[in-house]
Order: sequence, then C-alpha cells, then structure tokens
Amino acid sequence: MTTTAASSTVEVAGVRIDTRHYIGGQRVGSADTFTNTSPIDGGFLGDIARGGAREIDQAVSAARSAFPAWAALGAQGRGELLHRVADLVERDLETLANIETLDNGGLLRSNRRGVMPRVAHNLRFFADYAIRDLKHPGFDTRGHTNVVSWDPSGVAALITPWNAPLMLATWKIGPALAAGDTVVLKPAEWTPLTASYFADLTKEAGLPDGVFNVVQGFGREAGAALVKHPGISRISFTGSVPTAKTIARAAADNLTPCSFELGGKSPCIVLADADLELAASLAVEQYDNAGQVCLSGTRILVHQDIAEAFSDAFATKARNLKQGDPRDPESDIGPQVHRTHFERIKGFVDRARDEGQTVVLGGEPNADLGGLYFRPTLISDPPPGSEIVTQEVFGPVLTMQTFATDDEAIALANGTEFGLAAVVVSGDREHARAITEQLVAGTIWVNCFFVRDLRAPFGGSKKSGVGREGGTWSFDFYADVKNTVIAPTGWKDS
Ligand code: ADP
Repeated sequence: MTTTAASSTVEVAGVRIDTRHYIGGQRVGSADTFTNTSPIDGGFLGDIARGGAREIDQAVSAARSAFPAWAALGAQGRGELLHRVADLVERDLETLANIETLDNGGLLRSNRRGVMPRVAHNLRFFADYAIRDLKHPGFDTRGHTNVVSWDPSGVAALITPWNAPLMLATWKIGPALAAGDTVVLKPAEWTPLTASYFADLTKEAGLPDGVFNVVQGFGREAGAALVKHPGISRISFTGSVPTAKTIARAAADNLTPCSFELGGKSPCIVLADADLELAASLAVEQYDNAGQVCLSGTRILVHQDIAEAFSDAFATKARNLKQGDPRDPESDIGPQVHRTHFERIKGFVDRARDEGQTVVLGGEPNADLGGLYFRPTLISDPPPGSEIVTQEVFGPVLTMQTFATDDEAIALANGTEFGLAAVVVSGDREHARAITEQLVAGTIWVNCFFVRDLRAPFGGSKKSGVGREGGTWSFDFYADVKNTVIAPTGWKDS
C-alpha cells in the first residue's frame, strides 16, 4: 500500500483510491488529514482528507445546485442512472469486497457473497420501487379526489457507521436518490475507503455532478457541521444512541426530520419446544461480523428445562468457529474494527469477570492471533441489571440467562431500553406467535436470522431508533409526501 501525496491517492487491494472528498463531481482536498489503518494487521491504508464546516458547506451547496435538475429528471431517469451505478458495483464487486475487508475487517467471503451484491441490490431495488411500486390508490371525499404523491425534498444528509460501511450507506443512498433528493454522505472515519471508491463509480455511471457528494472526516467535525447545516432537508443516521441524541439536538434548530437506526441488545429466545440444533446454530450466528451487528441477538434466553442440552450444543458449535484473517476463506470470525473498540469490548468482559460473573467461553483476546482478535465469548447467568445485559457491547460477547415461564421470558426480553430485533426459536407455531405478539422490537425472526426483504419496514423501537426505512417507509422519509385534493366542480370540461 503506497500513498502519492501529490495526487492524494492510495493503492489498496490493487486499485487507486482517492482519499479526498468528492464534492460537485470534483475531488477536493483538506489542509488536514487523518490516518486510516487496517484492523487485520494495523497496516497503513491511507491519509484521508479531514473535512469540517468549510467542506460541508461546499458539499451542501453543490447538492442544492444539483437538486432541481435531479428532481425534475423523474423516477425513470433517476432509476436508469442508479441501475448504471449498480452495474459498476457488480463489475467491481471483487475490488469493493477486498477494500471493505481491508478497511473494516469483515469476512471477505461475506463481502463477496452477501454484502456487495446487497450494495447493488440497494440501488436497483429503490430505483425500481420509485418507478413501479410507489403508488397510492387515492381516495374519494364526497366526490373530491385525493391524490397522494412523493415529491423530492432537497438534500439528504447521510451519516453512516463502520460495521457494514458501503452496505449501510447505499441502504440510504438508494432511496434518497430514487426519491429525487441529492445526497451528502459522511462515512465513518474508521472505514472511509469504499465510499470514496463508490464516488468514482457514480461519476463513471454519469450521475450529474453534485447529485452525490462525500465528505470524509470525524463525527464531531464534518458530521456535526453537516447535521446542523440549514441547507439540508433530511438526516438519516445509523450509529449509537449518544450520537443520535447529539444529532437530534443539532437538527432541532432547523427542525430537520431525522431517521435514526441505533443500537440493540436483542434477545435470542429459545423456548422449551425448540429444535436444539437449530437453536444452537442460530445462537452461534449472533457472533457474525465479530459481533459488530446492531441486530445481533446477544442475550440468549433459554428455557431452564433445556438449558444444559442447549449449552452443550451451543458450546460445541462455538468452539468450532475458526477465528483468523478475514481474507482466509476458512475464517468465521475476524478482528474487531479498531483498537479503541477492541478495548471497549475487553473492558466490558473484564468488568464482568471482576464482578465474579461466569465466563463460559472465550473472555479474552486471542493470544495466538494477537492484534484486534477477541475470542467468541459467552457469559452465563449475569445478574439482572448488570451492564453486560443492559448495554450494547457490539462485539463477540453473548450472555445466557434462563427462564421458567413465558412471562419471565417476555419480561427479560423486553427488559432493556432497546427494541431493535429479537430471535425466537420454537417448534410450536402458536407458542411462537404468543411470544412474538408481546415482544417490543422492530424486527423479529422466528426460527431464522437475518432474512431481509427491502420491502419490509426496518428500524427500532424504544431507544433503538426513530422511524422506519425500507419500501414505502423509506420514501415516506426522504420525500415530501403531498396530498392534492381535486374538486369535481369548476372544470371547463364538466
Ligand atoms: P459508534 O458506532 O462508533 O459508536 P457513532 O454513533 O459515534 O459511533 O458513529 C456513527 C457515525 O456518526 C460516524 O460516521 C461518526 O463519524 C458519526 N458521528 C459521530 N459523532 C457525530 C456528531 N456529533 N454529529 C454527526 N455525526 C457524528
């Protein structure tokens, strides 16, 4: 990996990536940069432009200038361009997968098979949805016709996290652009590279200058300047609860509508009638992406009658997980994204152990691998209310608690300030339904995990989020929803 100071590009995964901002179709540098390293081995990836209020101002201004023509292009014209970007994502899928793995440490095989195809799908799905599916039947009020439409709203400010950088960015970029908004994206500072590469693809695809802009930098600098900017019409944010509160305060001055997808502390409920093999497999899946998944069911709640058998099945599967370099196709779990985050996870586990809690599996860094690899961990019977069962760890750390009755299971499941997701494992449809009806969560998976349909609403209850995205819900957010009431009278032809 080499940097060329003059051109501000860096070579990663065999391609050159521009590390400057992308504003109004041009590359724009900043006086300052910050260093980006790989979680795999700490290797240098690049010095990235460190944007602030000045660059945000330029980007919002470019997005505002591009807005009228983009809005006027209509869903069909915008959709064709989004499909062209998706074609280029698919052409460069291997490159994007490699860049993302170097930048955030996610498994290369997941990036190839699941994540990058989903990036293209995010663009295609919302492009087509705006063209074909975004319809309202309209309704009649004493002969007056109500026509509901989704009008472009302006500039969407998108703030994204590091755990699935380009997938979560395009989950917002797709609907925002399809709705006719222009975009300023501020990617997470730990994982800036795929957004920058993606900007070049939008240029190559022929997206008009200023329709899509990227400003790199820190949350407290570039991010803070973006969300308080009076020139934006929407803020879509995925990240932590404290940052969402800061953003909401900044947005309040301009009353900018916000969509927040935040953390979770989701339960994985194993009922006494569950298929044990399935339950153990689903529970082990909660270690995916080294536990850096907001949706993970990190609190395993298991019926006391099957707790022992379940624990044995779980431990066998968890011990079989291979931790290693995320580029190795044999690896199941890679490193944590960043030293700061690694230390945070370790802090949670160390404190639980210091309190005398039982660490059944893992509980420490993987000494064989060194660096940022933390062993898949299970803590059993944590005291109710302890931080390990109430706060989001966002690492490969699960807890296991037992329950005797459904009421106890529901109370435990709903007993945090979060409500993002839940997993329920049961062999009895009626029993599963009775449980899911009482859970407070944006998404519930029954006998499965991570099955996602972009038509479905997605978001969190309680502190896990504000609003829903997906299908029409995305357009309800990014667009200005308008109702036109047309009288039956007053027409020259009537
Ligand atoms: P994490 O998921 O690491 O806990 P955050 O929720 O803080 O982090 O970060 C998610 C995204 O929010 C990142 O792109 C980050 O730069 C951005 N961010 C952090 N602080 C702010 C802020 N005050 N204003 C706007 N964006 C921010």
